[in-house]
Amino acid sequence: MSSSSNVLPVVVVGAGPSGVTAATLLAQYGVEVLVLDRWASVYPQPRAVHLDDEIYRIVARLGLADEFARISRPSQGLRLMDPEHRVLAEFRRDGGAGRHGFPQANMFDQPELEALLRANLCAQPSVTFRGDVLVTAVHQSAAGPVRVDLTDRTTGETEAIEATYVLGCDGANSVVRRSIGATMQDLRFEQRWLVVDVNTDHDLGQWEGVHQVCDTDRAATYMRISERRYRWEFQLKDGETSQDFEDIAVLDPLLRPWTGAVPVADLELVRVAEYTFRAQLADRWRDRNVFLLGDAAHLTPPFIGQGMGAGLRDAANLAWKLAGVLQGHLAPVVLDTYEQERRPHTAQMIRLAIVVGTAMTRGGRTGDLLRRLVAPRLHLVPGFRARVLDSTTPPCARARSSPVVADAGGWPARSARTRRSTAGGSTT
Ligand SMILES: Cc1cc2nc3c(=O)[nH]c(=O)nc-3n(C[C@H](O)[C@H](O)[C@H](O)COP(=O)(O)OP(=O)(O)OC[C@H]3O[C@@H](n4cnc5c(N)ncnc54)[C@H](O)[C@@H]3O)c2cc1C
Repeated sequence: MSSSSNVLPVVVVGAGPSGVTAATLLAQYGVEVLVLDRWASVYPQPRAVHLDDEIYRIVARLGLADEFARISRPSQGLRLMDPEHRVLAEFRRDGGAGRHGFPQANMFDQPELEALLRANLCAQPSVTFRGDVLVTAVHQSAAGPVRVDLTDRTTGETEAIEATYVLGCDGANSVVRRSIGATMQDLRFEQRWLVVDVNTDHDLGQWEGVHQVCDTDRAATYMRISERRYRWEFQLKDGETSQDFEDIAVLDPLLRPWTGAVPVADLELVRVAEYTFRAQLADRWRDRNVFLLGDAAHLTPPFIGQGMGAGLRDAANLAWKLAGVLQGHLAPVVLDTYEQERRPHTAQMIRLAIVVGTAMTRGGRTGDLLRRLVAPRLHLVPGFRARVLDSTTPPCARARSSPVVADAGGWPARSARTRRSTAGGSTT
């Protein structure tokens, strides 16, 4: 094993959306960052399709507002539908700018966004990106730098790199999480869903928002995500797997309520995949100089389209604090506020996703009947619109100890407690 004598300020493990956002923000503050990923290019499978206006603001902070506008389309809101596809309730968004200056709901294709993020990362002079390297462990001694062990996948060589700080952005099966002895708490939600992406030159002519079919027999979600791309998600029944649905002809009856008269031959199946939607939260997000961000720290079922957004919020919350500490503007104690601020916000968003997922899928025929009665009146329930239907997320938790207050985009150090913000702690 070779070893470098240079201690890097920050090593980011994982170049998914969370890692790339954290590394880019750090680079913008002038911090030197090494980013490591097991693959050389972005993960090609479509996953996230929605982000809200606050996350858009973080994307804009990275310098990608115009580029993101070109690959995304504002959504008109949310429709709850019964098993016969009758509209139970509709919650519209006008597509105009919300209080963060961007549309409140935006549809996109995750690999396209990741390609933008990755190109922007590699354009930062203080960032080095190394693909095709598998991080195998992270070690921390009582004093001294953090050691990152890795294997170069192209040569098979093992190597050790030292860094002052390590950010574990290595997704759901995080090696960094394991290395610091953190474990995922299971928040008791687990469902298997089929995710289907289809391209077609036909305009399906559907209402351009998210359609949630509340059906205990087969809950479903539909949305248009780009000019030619459409996404469906269907809850899988016991015994079914994605292999049962790999042919567009088999999928056709499930898609037909939306595809209408479009010939099946004109529907190009981009991919079909099975995902187990889980709700999990790491029991701790930090061990000394090692931090967990994104899916490494939390898993949110995608019913409210907030999982990737949570990772970007983590990055935006931590990056300016870490830069401030490394550059001597901030006391290291400010780093304690990362988990204090981000964990409660994330926990609330996960709970909300569980409520929405459960409401869509549970209760049998009685549940379907109750939904038919209750859904049209949901807008009358105080707080429901703000919590589920517009992009407002819970306020940032008050940190227990913080000697500084952050202003948007910077770190003017002054003695005070951290202000409550609506940004889930992202403070961009
Ligand atoms: C079907 C589906 C729909 C979704 N819809 C939405 C949505 O609409 N909105 C939303 O906000 N979120 C959504 N999500 C969630 C979103 O996709 C994830 O939360 C997001 O990708 C997490 O980003 P990340 O950077 O934290 O982790 P990842 O995207 O998993 O990236 C982790 C990176 O770390 C690398 N890595 C892992 N292990 C190692 C190692 N040992 N060494 C080196 N590199 C390593 C990986 O190669 C990868 O590049 C959805 C998810 C699914 C499955």
